[in-house]
Amino acid sequence: MQDLPVFEDLPGRKARLETAFKRLDPSLRVPTQAIGRRYAIGCVAVEITQRCNLDCTLCYLSESSEKVKDIPLALVMDRLQKVRDTYGDGVGVQITGGDPTLRKREELVAIVKRAAELGLEPSLMTNGIKLTRDLAQELKSVGLTDVAIHVDLTQERKRYATEEDLNAVRKEYIERMRGLGLHVIFNTTVYDGNFNQIPGLIRFFAENADVVNLASFQIQADTGRGVIKDRSDGITLKSVRAKIAEATGNPDLNWDNIRVGHPDCNSIAYTLVSKNGTTRFADLNVDPSLFAEIISSTTDLKFSRMDSRKTSLAVAKWALGQPRLLALLLRSFVKVSLRNGPGMWLKKNDPRKLTLIIHNFMDASDLDPMRVSNCSFMVATDKGFVSMCAHNAARETFIRRPLTIETPEGKKTWNPLTGTYVDDPRSLQLPVSTYIPANLAEIPVPQVPVSTLPVAMGAGGK
Ligand code: SF4
Repeated sequence: MQDLPVFEDLPGRKARLETAFKRLDPSLRVPTQAIGRRYAIGCVAVEITQRCNLDCTLCYLSESSEKVKDIPLALVMDRLQKVRDTYGDGVGVQITGGDPTLRKREELVAIVKRAAELGLEPSLMTNGIKLTRDLAQELKSVGLTDVAIHVDLTQERKRYATEEDLNAVRKEYIERMRGLGLHVIFNTTVYDGNFNQIPGLIRFFAENADVVNLASFQIQADTGRGVIKDRSDGITLKSVRAKIAEATGNPDLNWDNIRVGHPDCNSIAYTLVSKNGTTRFADLNVDPSLFAEIISSTTDLKFSRMDSRKTSLAVAKWALGQPRLLALLLRSFVKVSLRNGPGMWLKKNDPRKLTLIIHNFMDASDLDPMRVSNCSFMVATDKGFVSMCAHNAARETFIRRPLTIETPEGKKTWNPLTGTYVDDPRSLQLPVSTYIPANLAEIPVPQVPVSTLPVAMGAGGK
């Protein structure tokens, strides 16, 4: 253990994890649950602009997004600090928007740098259009760990009629990111227009697994300004899981051996892609007790995402002294090898890990209180941390609200529709939206101060 870095403030971390675990519904406190054991929260989104250079047909932004000015830098920094204070170090923070690359370059760099200085793990969520290699390199140099690039047919990029056509765009982004040392993720919204094209996408991500580390599929949700509303009966968590699993050649791919929050929200599968003649996928997560053991035995360890080779060696050395973990690892290794043939591990077959995730957001008009109150994906707001689904359902309320800010001249109020400051908030004649979906106000989530690990705050709490 001495060779491995540990999280800062271990007693504080223990308390945060306990709070997170206690807030989970008892039915979710299973041995494979990572919330409360390894993570105080799955991740937190910090939105640094509401603007975007695309207009996806399933966009989660809202009516006023393009009118709203970029939130002052000082307030972004304040939100990052609150993420750190509330959830501790090592937490994944999504620098997002809108598209965050529309923010001034020096501000974006400063935001990522600050997140990394606070010990958070910043990822950039972008459509890739403005993400040059040079920008990615600069962001990496100040501490960016992940880049998540959204490409799919809902973006209606000109001249691309199929997901296969869009692989040319993905390929260009892959080449831009190659060799930078960033963890590369591709995001795909799944809807009727591309559901049957999932197998081709899975093949593409596997063929490019030397750069692509994770493929994330987000099932369409009726929320925000998107024009495609209801999903058809054919697009369900079950059908998307099955479609992806079949595409990997593992119809029984294990989606439930790892739990992050509620099972209807997040599904995760770990695969190993190898190229022995043809591209083949092996399901790595064949034993839930292995993952349970990993999260319970590594609670204090902070794995560096910046130097994965050094970290892997140190972890391997440490694992040699953990008899139970070692036995479970060995058991999984034998099981996976017997199922897929030992050739999958050989260097000549170029084995690469490819993680597959499905995120199942909810419709704004159909929020499930149970899922919201067990949410593992928060948005930072001036009122605390709010479940992403609840936030999207009431986005207008959040983004149009005047914000209080400390300036060298004292406390002022920032008007998001003009980007100007006033001394007296009563002078603002803002048409502040008060739209809150009726059922959101009824969600039984506690109003708690930021410092005590908020679960989610009812959007009505203004
Ligand atoms: S409640 Fe919504 S945002 Fe939170 S984890 Fe579930 S699907 Fe994701």
